[in-house]
Amino acid sequence: MTTFMSSPSRPSGDLALTLAALGWHVFPLSARDKRPLANCLDCRDNPECARDDYTACPCLPDGQWCHGVRAATTDPDRIRTWWRRQPAAVPAVAAGPSDLVLIDLDAHTDQLPADPATELLPGTPITPGDLPGGFDQIRTGRDVLLLLARIRGGNHPWPSDPVHRPVSVVTPSRGRHLWYRAPRTDGGRRLRQALGTLGWQIDIKAGWSYGIAPGATTAKGPYQVVTGDPAHVGRMPDWLADEVLRVATDRPVPPPAPAPAAPPASGGRPAAYLTTVIDNGAAELAALADGRQRALSALAYKVGGLLSWSGLNRGDVEDRLVDAGLASGLPQRLTRRIVHRALTNGLARPLAGPTRHASTAVR
Ligand SMILES: [Zn+2]
Ligand SMILES: [Zn+2]
Repeated sequence: MTTFMSSPSRPSGDLALTLAALGWHVFPLSARDKRPLANCLDCRDNPECARDDYTACPCLPDGQWCHGVRAATTDPDRIRTWWRRQPAAVPAVAAGPSDLVLIDLDAHTDQLPADPATELLPGTPITPGDLPGGFDQIRTGRDVLLLLARIRGGNHPWPSDPVHRPVSVVTPSRGRHLWYRAPRTDGGRRLRQALGTLGWQIDIKAGWSYGIAPGATTAKGPYQVVTGDPAHVGRMPDWLADEVLRVATDRPVPPPAPAPAAPPASGGRPAAYLTTVIDNGAAELAALADGRQRALSALAYKVGGLLSWSGLNRGDVEDRLVDAGLASGLPQRLTRRIVHRALTNGLARPLAGPTRHASTAVR
């Protein structure tokens, strides 16, 4: 554990090898933009590689890094080869293959959602007794997870006892990554859904979703392990496992959001609304077995229509959509092309934002 906490300048390849030896499945990200390294030219032109499952791609059995998270491995020879070719690559960890779940607690300076009582923890109403100090004390995903612990009557979300202690990482943006052993679903099935939102600024990454490796350093700074041991990753407290299973196992596809109507009443926090649309769309995308290209295109088109109204920056939104596509396993070049085209088309047909009532119904 101390090695993870005290060697910020460790070469990326060594970190990848160390984690792989502990059963963490790793793959390389570009040091420049923290996205998976590009596929080879053969994959670009191979129609089989545009399929959703990549089973026909010859590069994966051949040990190439094509298709990002799908290439994740614990094979030290493969990892040595990758980092010999790209010594600056940032190691990422594929959650599901490593039998891990990442709880990603953001610390954005976003405004609170329009209706915090129902939107901070969708599906879990918050009563005044849960939060005696009022909503003003909620700033980050960390605050929301602590609130959820209180509502569920559970113990601390990241306990210090070795059985339950996650690998806890402070990110360069002052967020927190909590890596836990994946909880068992009924019947021992693996978590199916790659992404889920447990609450405001709390994302769940499981299955074919991934996170920057604990101990890695990017251009923005270190992902510093503050507690926990990658060799002995703790289990979630039961209350937290129940919550994660609730949002990260198969669930019925939610009904479509109501059609946008009048402009927002009282300012309506359009940026937060559109961010929620993207996050929920990303979660649904990750849950699809097929049809992801079409779903990504539809999402980007809708987001494009709401972009001017939201006041969000196009570049940021495009990045988020590309991340959603990549996290669902779509290949990089295809993802960028779909997002760019659909977002541009959507922007050309602007929509009015929803009413406040509609915004609380988005799931
Ligand atoms: Zn390839
Ligand atoms: Zn391929």
